[in-house]
Amino acid sequence: MKPPVGLHRHDGDDWVVCGDHRHWGLYGAAGLLLVRRGADGGPGHLVLQHRAPWSHMGGTWGIPGGALAPGESAGDGALREAAEEAAVDPAAVEVVGTHVLEHPAWTYTTVVAEVRSGARVVPRAADAESLAVRWVALGELAGLDLLPPFEAALPELLRLLPVRAPAVRG
Ligand SMILES: [Zn+2]
Repeated sequence: MKPPVGLHRHDGDDWVVCGDHRHWGLYGAAGLLLVRRGADGGPGHLVLQHRAPWSHMGGTWGIPGGALAPGESAGDGALREAAEEAAVDPAAVEVVGTHVLEHPAWTYTTVVAEVRSGARVVPRAADAESLAVRWVALGELAGLDLLPPFEAALPELLRLLPVRAPAVRG
C-alpha cells in the first residue's frame, strides 16, 4: 500500500537496498522511546504507536520514528518524528541515551528519553502513520504484537534509563 497524501515529506523519504532486503530512510532512520516512570522509580509506561497498515510491518506496535532528513542528526530526527506523529513536545522530554542498530547500508537509532520532571506528555496519533498512539504499561506489552526489532532491543533500551530510587511519599 502507498502512504496517503498530506504527510510530512523530505528528501530522506525513500527505500534503501541493504543486501537482500530494504529499509525506509536514505539517510537512516530514528525513533523516540519515551518512558514514564512508575511509583517504584523504574520504567512504568512507554509511548507506543500502532503502525498504520500501509507502513512497513504495518499493524504492529513500535515507537514513533521515521527517515532522517539530509544532514539531520538522529537525536533531532527522533524528536521531530515524535512531534509529527505523536504530538510529543520536545521540551517535555529529557534524552537519556541512544542505541544504534547497524546494518551494512542503513542505521536505526533509538533515542531513549523520559518525561522531564514536572512535565506532562499526552501522546496522540497526530498523522496518518498511526492507528493509535498512547501510553502503554510495561505489563501490557506481552499482549501486543510488537515490531520484531523493537521487541528484540527493548530490554537493552530500558537499561539506558538511569536508576532512580522510588519517590518518597510523605
Ligand atoms: Zn539491512
